[in-house]
This record gives sequence, C-alpha cells and structure tokens, in this order.
Amino acid sequence: MEKSTVYFTDFRCPVGTSQIDKLKKLCIAAGIRNIDMEGKFVAIKMHFGELGNLAFLRPNYAKAVADLCKEQGGLPFLTDCNTLYPGSRKNALEHLDCANLNGFNTITTGCQIIIGDGLRGTDEVEVPVANGEYCETALIGRAIMDADIFISLTHFKGHEATGFGGTIKNIGMGCGSRAGKMKQHASGKPAINEDLCRGCRRCAKECGSDAITYQDKKAVIDYDKCKGCGRCIGACNYDAVYNPNSDANELLDRKMAEYAQAVCHDRPCFHISLVQDVSPNCDCHGENDAPILPNIGMFASFDPIALDQACADACLKAKPLDNSQLGDHLAEPGWHCHHDHFKDSNPNIEWKATLDQGEKIGLGSREYELKILK
Ligand code: SF4
Ligand code: SF4
Repeated sequence: MEKSTVYFTDFRCPVGTSQIDKLKKLCIAAGIRNIDMEGKFVAIKMHFGELGNLAFLRPNYAKAVADLCKEQGGLPFLTDCNTLYPGSRKNALEHLDCANLNGFNTITTGCQIIIGDGLRGTDEVEVPVANGEYCETALIGRAIMDADIFISLTHFKGHEATGFGGTIKNIGMGCGSRAGKMKQHASGKPAINEDLCRGCRRCAKECGSDAITYQDKKAVIDYDKCKGCGRCIGACNYDAVYNPNSDANELLDRKMAEYAQAVCHDRPCFHISLVQDVSPNCDCHGENDAPILPNIGMFASFDPIALDQACADACLKAKPLDNSQLGDHLAEPGWHCHHDHFKDSNPNIEWKATLDQGEKIGLGSREYELKILK
C-alpha cells in the first residue's frame, strides 16, 4: 500500500493567532476542501465526554470543523452513539443532556447533535465489512450511515483496553450501536486475581452495570450482568482485574478496525485528531487522571490508519510526565519497562493490532509522510 499523507501542526500560538485558526488551516492544507459537500449531510463523529470528565475536546473545535463544512455548502451535524454501560450517555435523552452540560449546543457548535443509534441505542444498520476477517457485518448507528460524508474529530488519549483511544476507536467502537459495541467486546470479560485484590471497591464504583459485589472483602464479578466493557480494569490500582482471555484485547482491537471499515467504506471521509490532555484512560470515564504525556498537536488526514499511527509515533517519542499513571509506573522499583508509553501506562493492551488489521483489510496505511505546518 502507498504511503499516506498526514498533516500536523503543534499547539504554539503566538499573540494574534488562535488554535481554532490553526485547526482550520490544518484541515484545509490536508484537503478537506476537495470534498464536494454541497447540499450533503456531514456527520462529524466525536465524543462529548462522560459527565465529570474534563479531558474531552472543547466544543469550539467542533464549531471550527462544522463552520468549514458549512462554508463548503455542507449540512453538518455532530454525532455519537449511546454507550454499552449505564453512565450519563446510555440513551439519547441523557446523552443530549450530557452533551449540553459539557457545552455542546447549537450556539457553541453552530450545528445540531444527533445521537447516531437513536433513543435506546437500537436504531442501527447492518453494514457489510469489506474484507472483514472477524466481522462479516457491523451494526452501526443509522444516522451515521445515513450521512453522505463522514468526518471523525478525535481526542487522542490513552485507553485501558485498547492502549490509546484514537481515530479508529472513535469510529469503530464509537459508531457501533449498543449491539454493535457488545459484539466488539464479546471477546472477553475480566476476572479478579484474589491474591492482589485489596477490597478497595473502586472497581464496583466504576462498573455501570452493577456487576461487581464483594465476598470476604474480595471483588466478585457477576457474569450475567457484566458487559465486558473493561472499565474495571482501568479502575484497579493493584492490577487485580485482568482479562483471562489473553487474546481478548487483541480481538477487540481487530474488530474495532473492521467496524471502522464499515463506517468509512465507499463514501467521502476526513479525519482529524488532537493529541492533548492525554489522560491514561478513555473519556468514557467520569474523571480524567493527570495526563501521561505533554500536549503534542493536531493531525489531519484522509487515512484514519496513518493518522492513528502518526499520533501514536508522536506520543511514543514524547517525554512521560511525572506524577501521572505512566510516570508512577516507570518510577516503580523493578518495573518491567515495555519502552512503549501506552503499554507502560496500561500493561495489558495490544494497540498495534488495530492498525495492523486496518491496514490488512485496506482501511489505510501505516506508512505515512508527515507534513508539518507552522
Ligand atoms: S479495584 Fe482492584 S483492589 Fe479494589 S476491590 Fe476492585 S479488584 Fe479489588
Ligand atoms: S467489564 Fe468490569 S466494569 Fe464492565 S461491566 Fe464487566 S464488571 Fe462492570
């Protein structure tokens, strides 16, 4: 596969400039204006942040992208699908309330919000996965598939199950309906290592499915209730929650790439990723722990695989921040260093499988040329 082009600009903004202008210039340089948007619906997929989380992208960035679409005659809307777990985005009403409370509305973003898979997370389309190896079809939110053009606007950060939450995660997992998310997560449910469990109850607080109880001061998972979302893995500070199926995270990664293929295949797409507030875990958490890496910059490309690869490469080169999950791990005496910031932050992850699978099925290329804008 040929090398793709990824455009990059850092967050430096001398007086008289703004990050919003930089983002617009980046998108234009990367070719957003080559997409014919006249009179077409444009889905801008993003994550509005779980209530309590403050690391999600500000609505101002969404407005910049929506404004660009409108300048090209497009009809943009912001979208995300409901979550698998019962947090603050589990149905369209609560999801819209959450988006509003986090600052996303028609005034701040200049466009409407449509929850992709409807009121209860069941409004889905079964979409064939071109070249799919793990999924013949994917269950995607209907409004997302109804759009003529698809744009992903991603907050790039760490993730407890997939290593990082980047563009493929935003598209593949984020556009899945509730059933689609279940199918991607079906590869494995976590288990508790009783010897390591200290009974601190953090995992139960994090579990939105009420699946964790305690017996003899040790956590116990009720597998009839557990959805396999993996949030408890990120919640435990003592590595007592683990995935007993060693292939589970890798399978999740590969399915996610195939879901992203279903979303992007055969229609105009454009992808933007901002590497800032790189918290160790997903914005689905109701908190954001201190960033593990410094803010790096904004990236844009037509190729979602190259985009994630470029963001990951930039993160791997960055200096870990002290007093963060990553910094603490690296400072632990005897820490087995993986020389991989994502793995050293969340050791049970396999992020490369996502990009490997995406490249294999023709979603994009891991080879890229980086064009740097000032
Ligand atoms: S968070 Fe970890 S240590 Fe605390 S109760 Fe859960 S499994 Fe045990
Ligand atoms: S994976 Fe963990 S947090 Fe998610 S539903 Fe199961 S027990 Fe709860």
